Amino acid sequence: MGYELRAQYAEGASPSSAGPLLEIWHMTEEGETQALCGRRLDPAAWTQPSTAWGTPAADPFCRECGVRYLRMGVG
Ligand SMILES: [Zn+2]
Repeated sequence: MGYELRAQYAEGASPSSAGPLLEIWHMTEEGETQALCGRRLDPAAWTQPSTAWGTPAADPFCRECGVRYLRMGVG
């Protein structure tokens, strides 16, 4: 099963608004909108391949998603 990074936007911002404000990255199962930490994310939110995890491109990253991802032994 694959994983991907999905963005959470700052309060009041949306992926369709001009220059959406990135709040933090979460980890989800591929194609899912619920993060490993339980947060629901916008289906239109930006995504990145899971290989971006741990790189500056995925910063800031949700700490709880990171912990859960590691526990699954796929990181
Ligand atoms: Zn998270």
